[in-house]
Amino acid sequence: MERRTLVKALSVSGFVALGSGSVMRQLLNSAPAQQAAQSPVLLPKSFGVGAAQGQWAGAQLAHGMEDMGMPGSASQQAAGSAGRMSVGEHQLAQQDAAIKDHMPTQDMSPADKVRYFESVFDDDFFISDAKLALLRETQRRLDRLQRLVGHGNFNLLSMDQAFRYARNYSQVGDFTVQEKSLFEELFEADARRYGFYGNKVVDSLTATIPLKEVEKIPGTGHFLYRDKSIDFYNRLRNQVGDTLVLTSGVRSVVKQMHLFFAKADQSAGNLSKASRSLAPPGYSYHAISDFDVGKVGFGYRNFTADFAETDEYKRIQDLGFVKIRYTADNHLGVRYEPWHIQVT
Ligand SMILES: [Zn+2]
Repeated sequence: MERRTLVKALSVSGFVALGSGSVMRQLLNSAPAQQAAQSPVLLPKSFGVGAAQGQWAGAQLAHGMEDMGMPGSASQQAAGSAGRMSVGEHQLAQQDAAIKDHMPTQDMSPADKVRYFESVFDDDFFISDAKLALLRETQRRLDRLQRLVGHGNFNLLSMDQAFRYARNYSQVGDFTVQEKSLFEELFEADARRYGFYGNKVVDSLTATIPLKEVEKIPGTGHFLYRDKSIDFYNRLRNQVGDTLVLTSGVRSVVKQMHLFFAKADQSAGNLSKASRSLAPPGYSYHAISDFDVGKVGFGYRNFTADFAETDEYKRIQDLGFVKIRYTADNHLGVRYEPWHIQVT
């Protein structure tokens, strides 16, 4: 892609500044859909829907955060940070100015694309319009399913459970053959085709998360693995303080699919762009151990490079034993995620 074309792409997509500006714009466009009311429903006992869900909804509003950085009150938070540029962003902007005028896509390293993760590149992978329409239909059904079981439980839902609930509850409605095929196709796809070079960590679309291996973290609506992750999270919190909080923990294939569909939808079917800011289903370490942390009250900015400017992040770094899964210079094709803690 020529440099000129890239700049045009940036301005057309409303790209303001790396990080919070562009993320904010997306949030403003999509926040209302994410804020659907949560109404408790009665479900089979095995899934434990009920009081916990209400507790979680309250916690989410209090912290104003969600898995993808969707804010509780996007407009308020955006108004407070509009036009702001972090130190890191200034440095990037200066480097950007030094890039030569013509920059063919094939000369860009994964790290370059990571820096411009919100941009569209010549060799990005798009799904067809028909498939995008199907994806959006499927996503609406997943939205209804999430409302039925609650955000907390949805984090753990297996594909078989999802199909069962959809079949048994008319407010969700059975997944169609095409929708099921879409799940299979996306799960089986080699993500390198999109430019994502991380490992596949879940081997089956129907993988389940054993409930006895996970524990709900009070006040967060999220779960962590008992053996692998809870001790690590508690150790972090003990040393950093109560202002550090879990913002996303264990995520099943269904949950990751739902998040990825949202990204694909916002990206108009550009799966490369989607996978620059979210691991495709099957490739997320949230399925097996990793978790995200944020600063209480920092809202959606916990999911931007701004998190790296917080005292909480600096204290985490000072501990010396914490690794970030997707560093600023990673070659996996994923944007910088200072909030994502690598556990295994
Ligand atoms: Zn994460």
